[in-house]
Amino acid sequence: MATDRFQSAVFDEYLAKANAHAAKYLRTLPDRHVGARITRDELLAALHTSLPTLGDEGGDVIDLLASQVDRGAVACNSPRYFGFVIGGAYPVALAADWLVSTWDQNAGIYAISPLVAVLEEVAAQWLLDLFDLPRESGVGFVTGCQMANFTCLAAARHAVLKRVGWDVEADGLMGAPRINVVASAESHITIDVALRYLGLGARSARRVESDEQGRMRPDRLRELLATLDGPTIVCAQAGNVNTGAFDPLREIGQAARDHGAWLHVDGAFGLWARASERHRALADGIELADSWATDAHKWLNVPYDSGVAMVRDAEAHRAAMTSTAAYLVQTRGEERDAVDWVPEFSRRARGVPVYATLRALGRDGVQDLIDRCCARAWQMADALAREEGVRILNDVVLNQVLVRFDNDDDVTRAVIDGVQREGTCWLGGTTWQGQGAMRISVSNWATTEDDAARSVAAIVKVFRAMRQR
Ligand SMILES: *Cc1c(COP(=O)(O)O)cnc(C)c1O
Repeated sequence: MATDRFQSAVFDEYLAKANAHAAKYLRTLPDRHVGARITRDELLAALHTSLPTLGDEGGDVIDLLASQVDRGAVACNSPRYFGFVIGGAYPVALAADWLVSTWDQNAGIYAISPLVAVLEEVAAQWLLDLFDLPRESGVGFVTGCQMANFTCLAAARHAVLKRVGWDVEADGLMGAPRINVVASAESHITIDVALRYLGLGARSARRVESDEQGRMRPDRLRELLATLDGPTIVCAQAGNVNTGAFDPLREIGQAARDHGAWLHVDGAFGLWARASERHRALADGIELADSWATDAHKWLNVPYDSGVAMVRDAEAHRAAMTSTAAYLVQTRGEERDAVDWVPEFSRRARGVPVYATLRALGRDGVQDLIDRCCARAWQMADALAREEGVRILNDVVLNQVLVRFDNDDDVTRAVIDGVQREGTCWLGGTTWQGQGAMRISVSNWATTEDDAARSVAAIVKVFRAMRQR
């Protein structure tokens, strides 16, 4: 019975179950309590047993998983989820992602899957077009911006050492010329982690002072570069994770070029501003950089996990990443082997939902997505600022808003807690320049004007109730 018609009836049964659970989840998503409403103990009570000897029926397992999602999961693809920088998933992106799992392709090399290799080849070109970055750049589809930063900085490490006659891939860093790493005081933690992975060390990075919006000061960068000799990598940022502010990339790019340094830009969500005529100017000069990291699971709204590494010098990119083995080389050279561009060997075909989403949205659709999210961020900032005792801490230039209540850390924290419990929306907290703040990120295609208005109303209601106590 087991192998009968490849168990197609069993696939049908389980997938029908999964489809029904997914449909219910998606149907109720816009109305559900956004936060989780369950403790770890309750989840363990429902899910923990000793490892079964015989195993349960598969369909029952699928039902079990789904039974815990309503209270156990935070609805971070809800249109009223504004925590971190998360993003939802477009229907076409989710459907494409289902196909990726169904096909179960190992997207490491062309020979295993010509189909996904070509889909990713096209998606890579589309991204370079959309961002208007050098079309000859290497592109790697990685798990997220963490690994995109790592991949880009690995290419940087290769290139700056090669220029001084050192082969880091063959000989490692022991005995290598010292690399100067320069990053802004506001660089994302994943830059530090990438530097750790690369043997450069997080503490070795020289920090450049940033301004009140979190932008690297180019005058301070020039001063610092003037004191540095030898191989140098500068890490700049398009989109501060708190304020959404962009480093002044044209000035930074010019300073890096004058010094002969490699410039890397972390544009996890900010790079998408390049797709919008209205917001493109924020990233002016970004094309002067040598490498760019971004996320598709954030602002393109494809499901997790999906990041993108882009490197102008494709040869440096390939040299830093490629794995060659005699049994792998099965192509004539034109075909794209993903292992040349990413740290992974076997890998999921994560470029396929990117292809599907770009194909379905088109340039106009991506622009509309970015502009709508920014408009909703403005709407929320504007409405909140009208409430007495509420202050917006940042210049709202993109999709990020920092809100402070009664100019007080404790009140601000209490409002955040209260809003999370109330459930209309979800947002988190941060500390911005020593002050506690609520952090709003609008990065979901599905967030409507009404969602933004309802969320503001919920926040204001919690704040007023708190003041009356
Ligand atoms: C989210 C983010 C990252 C990390 O991206 P992951 O996809 O979580 O790995 C890096 N830099 C910035 C600016 C970010 O916002």
